Amino acid sequence: MLTRTSSITLSLHVFETLAHEAGHICLGHCTDQPSVCDTDPEVSRNQEREADSFAQSVLRSFYSLDENAKKPLYVAYLKNELVWAMLDRLQRRGMASDHPLAEERLMNALKSNSEIAAELGITEKLVQDILNSF
Ligand SMILES: [Zn+2]
Repeated sequence: MLTRTSSITLSLHVFETLAHEAGHICLGHCTDQPSVCDTDPEVSRNQEREADSFAQSVLRSFYSLDENAKKPLYVAYLKNELVWAMLDRLQRRGMASDHPLAEERLMNALKSNSEIAAELGITEKLVQDILNSF
């Protein structure tokens, strides 16, 4: 059964994914030339970080449109990222692939929306404690 919360979470995930992919396009990561990131995982990881940063700035703009929706949407987003970080730990991924580790992406999401996180009392230490208790 779909609830309003799961529907919002799903919509937010789709929105965040589209914003991330739009970031790749806007930042010039997509060309018809062979990409250096095809052969260099560090270049690929950096492009993923840049696209994440772009998506976070889009999300910040989105949050400012509706003050009442800002916190629930942010919590839904962090919960999604937290699940990915837990799955990384479960798989005991010690090294990033051509994408940054989910835990790094979670912490970057936390830092890039630090005002909302502070309003909610969500700190990096709290998130690290949750991950370490898993
Ligand atoms: Zn990407």
